[in-house]
Amino acid sequence: MVAGENGANRREEPQACAREALRTYFGYDFFRPGQEEVISSILSGRDVLAVMPTGAGKSICYQIPAVLLGGLTLVVSPLISLMGDQVRSLKEAGIRGSYLNSTLTPRQQEVVMARAIAGWYDIMYVAPERLSDQRFISFAQQVRMPLVAVDEAHCVSQWGQDFRPAYRGIPAFVNQLPRRPVVCALTATATARVRQDVSRLLDLLDPAIQVNGFDRPNLLLSSFELTPKNRTRWLLGYLAAHPTWSGIVYATTRKKVDELAEALRAAGITAVSYHAGMENNERAASQEAFVRDEARVMVATNAFGMGIDKSDVRFVVNCGLPLSLEEYYQEAGRAGRDGEPAECYLLWSRGDIRTCHFFIDNTEFPPETPQTERKTLLRNRERLLSAMIDYAMSESCLRARVLRYFGQDASSLGAVDGSAGCDGCSVCLGSSAEEYLRVARPRRAFGATGYSGSYRTRELPSETEVTDEDERLFQRLRALRKQLADEYHVLPYMVFSDATLRAMVRRRPANVEELLEVSGVGRAKLQRYGDAFLEEINR
Ligand code: ADP
Repeated sequence: MVAGENGANRREEPQACAREALRTYFGYDFFRPGQEEVISSILSGRDVLAVMPTGAGKSICYQIPAVLLGGLTLVVSPLISLMGDQVRSLKEAGIRGSYLNSTLTPRQQEVVMARAIAGWYDIMYVAPERLSDQRFISFAQQVRMPLVAVDEAHCVSQWGQDFRPAYRGIPAFVNQLPRRPVVCALTATATARVRQDVSRLLDLLDPAIQVNGFDRPNLLLSSFELTPKNRTRWLLGYLAAHPTWSGIVYATTRKKVDELAEALRAAGITAVSYHAGMENNERAASQEAFVRDEARVMVATNAFGMGIDKSDVRFVVNCGLPLSLEEYYQEAGRAGRDGEPAECYLLWSRGDIRTCHFFIDNTEFPPETPQTERKTLLRNRERLLSAMIDYAMSESCLRARVLRYFGQDASSLGAVDGSAGCDGCSVCLGSSAEEYLRVARPRRAFGATGYSGSYRTRELPSETEVTDEDERLFQRLRALRKQLADEYHVLPYMVFSDATLRAMVRRRPANVEELLEVSGVGRAKLQRYGDAFLEEINR
């Protein structure tokens, strides 16, 4: 940088570069809340702890610095099975990614490391266990590594749901590098206890802390009391009313998953199932069919979903009660990650409450667990369950209830008649389960743009902004996306998200320049898919 350059400019420069990178690689015009703060902390050399809900866009927070900083950014992630997809997604965006894990042969691993040393990659994904491997450590000492991003950072804490001991080895690894990288920890787990643990156990240096709101304005939240028999009937009606929507149905036991999936298939719906009782390869096939848009509905137990990157899930229906509001919001939060309106239904009955108590009463402990500890644990589980039941039966705003539960002030939801109401939950809308079986209603918010597509906004464009012609074009673009995805051996969402296809429908770009202005169209994708989409739109 030129000496004597004006300080203000120098500060603005990284921000401008980051925005340009957002546009070029990802095709987005605006950062989502929190992203810019995290990125500029990293670029200024400061550690970060980012707490953002699922779907908020955490990945971009380290992917953009990775391309701007040069060298190799290391991403520590617990989910080996997803690394391949993550790298393919990056490639679609024109970012050079790689991964090292046990799915590669030792020879392949050597090749990846040699290429990384030669500067082939911007990003490398590894599982935490890899960090204690001597071969890997000496490799890491040979590359310039300006950033280590720790994904799912709550795994370092015993208080979190998914404790992973190898996360404790991260600081030792970092200390063996010739130059200490910036460490960025990312998680969607909110509680103060876990947050403190993450900062301390990962040895973050005076980290910038970014905690984002837990509100997901594009999600409709609903809770209805329905008997199991009526739930199946309701579900069939709902799927018939929204024939193009794809989504997840959670059930509480393997048996119920199989029965529901069977009932849906009998009604001609492409449904697959997923639970721990199935063979690994069966589960993988189900997941693949769902993510590839070959099956419309995934019926699953809570074993399904962690890290599944399918951004156009339009609904999540829970048949029965999860054991905590954390678990419920995590599952429901898998809807609408593309920022477009999506719907979450909790369908429960008194019988489910009894089943939950029964589950808890029959908790299995390791034999050496002392009696007092068992008591505390059971009490804890009952406490978590009672918050879940309160939510299900709530007579006040469901969104406010969730936010307060996660320790967030809910008054920002907007005061309706002096009380906090959201206009996007079944309580505030005063709606009944039957109303959601009508075709016209939920379209309401689909005319809005991008992330602002919100059930909460009172000034939405009029009900049917979306014409039949728009809908037909949208379906044609989806079909094209599927065809291109198969041709290029990627998953449909890696081509373009639903949100981007909707934006194309609204905008009707006539040429390359106009297409590049559509949110979600970056340079690399324009080159690869631009012509095909323009042709389809102009047909
Ligand atoms: P998280 O890891 O927080 O759950 P992801 O990083 O997977 O979320 O992002 C969720 C979705 O949001 C992805 O489809 C991503 O492309 C999209 N996204 C991220 N940042 C933006 C942005 N600034 N504008 C529009 N979409 C974005």
